[in-house]
Amino acid sequence: MVKTVDIAIVGGGMAGASLALLLQKFCPQLSVALLERQPLPLPTAGTAPQLPSFDTRATAVAAGSLQIFSELGLWPRLRDYCAPIERVQVSDRGRGLGAILEADPRKRASFAGMLGAVIENAALGPVLYDALAQTDAQLLAPAQVRAVTMESGGAQLSWRAEEGGSERTLQAGLLVVADGVDSPLCHQLNIGVQRVEYRQRALITTVGLQRDHGGVAYERFTERGPMALLPLPRRDGQHRVALVWTCADEEAEQIASLEAGAFVERLQRAFGWRAGRILRAGKVHSYPLSLSLAEEQWRRGLVLVGNCAHFLHPVAGQGFNLTLRDCHALALTLARGCAAGAPPGELDLLQEYGRERRLDQQLTIGFSDRVPSLFASGSLWARGLRQAGLLGLTLAPPLRAGFVGQAAGFGL
Ligand SMILES: Cc1cc2nc3c(=O)[nH]c(=O)nc-3n(C[C@H](O)[C@H](O)[C@H](O)COP(=O)(O)OP(=O)(O)OC[C@H]3O[C@@H](n4cnc5c(N)ncnc54)[C@H](O)[C@@H]3O)c2cc1C
Repeated sequence: MVKTVDIAIVGGGMAGASLALLLQKFCPQLSVALLERQPLPLPTAGTAPQLPSFDTRATAVAAGSLQIFSELGLWPRLRDYCAPIERVQVSDRGRGLGAILEADPRKRASFAGMLGAVIENAALGPVLYDALAQTDAQLLAPAQVRAVTMESGGAQLSWRAEEGGSERTLQAGLLVVADGVDSPLCHQLNIGVQRVEYRQRALITTVGLQRDHGGVAYERFTERGPMALLPLPRRDGQHRVALVWTCADEEAEQIASLEAGAFVERLQRAFGWRAGRILRAGKVHSYPLSLSLAEEQWRRGLVLVGNCAHFLHPVAGQGFNLTLRDCHALALTLARGCAAGAPPGELDLLQEYGRERRLDQQLTIGFSDRVPSLFASGSLWARGLRQAGLLGLTLAPPLRAGFVGQAAGFGL
């Protein structure tokens, strides 16, 4: 017998797991199945799932996203793993000038009074999955979706629990594809992708500092690429920050292969002394960077969320934040449709969602794409522009408020 659900989500990374929680909150009457090809951990086991989303990276979660997590009841648990961002210090290497972005101190009591917080992805995974285990969502894992057929009433999915295992079928009124960048399902559905290769990689590791970071996130632009040090909670009394170091492919390869002491020395030279002395660094992981945008994000019975819809440069820490705003809007739109008796895969409903998200997506994608190229350029005009930009951010409160609003994920 073919199983049927209202909504099937393929991919249980940060996008799929967050959407499943939002659907359970806002559309409890709709049945939801989440299919993830990797095994999930037992609830409350305290170990991170073996999924790409929940690896050794840390995510800068904007205040707007914290607000969404709070609506889901996750904040009391997340708070223990988060380091709040109280200030962002933006600077241009080789110049004394810099901009300091601060949240509005008059709103300190709410999330709007924060710029955001940093959470290690390995901690976020168990929080999301423990919460999901308390809901009625069906968690199918390991479950590799191998083929999808779109039909008039939605989608039919074929999946397998293991290689060589028997093929099972699931029928869904709405298929949500959340299977990450370079999505094979999008390829199978003939959804085109616009892609810009940055020919850069992000080097990621955890770094130990001699002094406390004081809640400051440092964003430093060099002619070779942007670097960020993001505050992390202390562990075993050690002051820790998450490093995101963007450089050209060849240079990244060379830096990633340095032994620990040489890596720390090179990092200190490249980053400077704004965060004080760098004492140590953990294992370095390297991620290729591109801008990858799906040419369609919805069709009747189908919607794309997360990296398969838009994969961004991580410089401004916007990828997951944009995705969470998409997922929040999608859940609210489906809840409205549900109240009006519309099936979740109805085209009008998905178009309404698309219209609602267009402006935020355009602004955020443009922001993430343009900032690194502006700051990477050695040309005189670009240097002038970024000096003016940094100066503007320092001196002009409305401009700064716009930048902070964009970074904090509010007001769009
Ligand atoms: C270096 C770096 C730093 C970043 N930092 C930030 C940041 O500070 N702030 C921020 O907002 N964003 C950040 N991002 C972006 C953020 O990581 C992504 O938005 C997030 O990972 C989105 O994940 P996803 O769930 O869409 O995709 P993925 O994490 O790739 O998840 C896809 C899931 O689908 C599963 N899957 C794939 N195919 C199938 C199938 N056929 N059947 C079943 N399951 C399948 C996979 O196993 C996987 O678990 C960063 C990204 C990078 C690369």
